[in-house]
Amino acid sequence: VSEVVDRLALIGIGLIGSSIARGVREWGLAKEVVVQSRRAETVATAERLQLGDRYTTSAAEAVEGADLVIVSIPVGACEAVAREIAPALKAGAIVSDAGSVKAAVIRQMRPHLPRGVHFVPAHPVAGTEYSGPEAGFAALFQNRFCILTPPAGTDEEAVARVRMFWEGLGSRVEVMASAEHHDMVLAITSHVPHLIAYNIVGTAAHLEAVTESEVMKFAAGGFRDFTRIAASDPTMWRDVFLNNREAVLEMLGRFTEDLTALQRSIRFGDGDALFDLFTRTRAIRRGIIEAGQETAAPDFGRTHDAEPD
Ligand code: NAP
Repeated sequence: VSEVVDRLALIGIGLIGSSIARGVREWGLAKEVVVQSRRAETVATAERLQLGDRYTTSAAEAVEGADLVIVSIPVGACEAVAREIAPALKAGAIVSDAGSVKAAVIRQMRPHLPRGVHFVPAHPVAGTEYSGPEAGFAALFQNRFCILTPPAGTDEEAVARVRMFWEGLGSRVEVMASAEHHDMVLAITSHVPHLIAYNIVGTAAHLEAVTESEVMKFAAGGFRDFTRIAASDPTMWRDVFLNNREAVLEMLGRFTEDLTALQRSIRFGDGDALFDLFTRTRAIRRGIIEAGQETAAPDFGRTHDAEPD
């Protein structure tokens, strides 16, 4: 892949920003990369990892002369950053982001961006439960979807460039016409599953007192798979729920109804209802594997070489 941009500014250099930086370096997607993070400590780590060509704690300074700016910070912080970078953006620059929520980010950022600057919101649907610049890796976005939600009337060339950039990182790019639609789909595929994981791990933690560590001991029974998701970054996920309130509440309502129906099947011994659901859900997992979005390796792809037993 040849260079897609001359100067790239990365605002935020955590898991997502640093994975972008590594991919850009690996596949030569930019001539120059300017790295920004709020805290000097994070900037120093990024510098030690050689994630860019220049480093700064100032977002305004970072975007000067940049052709493409990617904001990868918690979604609740996007407005302040948009406000800060706006006067420093060059005419014709493209501003994008990586936020897990799209409508709220557009509401926060768009009003501040000057005319002549193109805004192409993006969401790479890829991640891990780790955060910070050291957690990133170049292959994170390989074969994962990146969803673009350009508001109506966005410059086509700017959208094409952002598409090329993400394809350069190995992503499969999809454009969604509506940010609200994105938020609804992601509420059920990502946000509610995280909430369920946080909740069940919380419930089990409360029970630890009466079970005398048996929750930890017998975690392989299913619990541990929720704990991986529930280990995700608290700030990022707080902001996701506060900024995708409507869609999450809608999906939680449906989830609660379905859960109540299951509760009823158990109470009245309706084994057929349980069996039917569990059969349908198995087919859904097969579909995800066939779509190349999950490994078919048993036990959730864990390798057992290093395990004591
Ligand atoms: P992260 O590893 O925790 O990194 C966060 C970055 O944002 C750091 O550079 C941090 O700076 C900066 N930051 C934190 N609070 C800030 C604030 N109030 N103002 C300005 N900068 C702030 O986070 P991440 O996982 O890369 O997530 C970044 C974005 O990508 C989020 O919007 C998230 O929704 C989205 N996303 C995440 C995943 C995932 O699985 N993690 C997947 C897809 C999309 P300092 O360290 O200097 O404080």
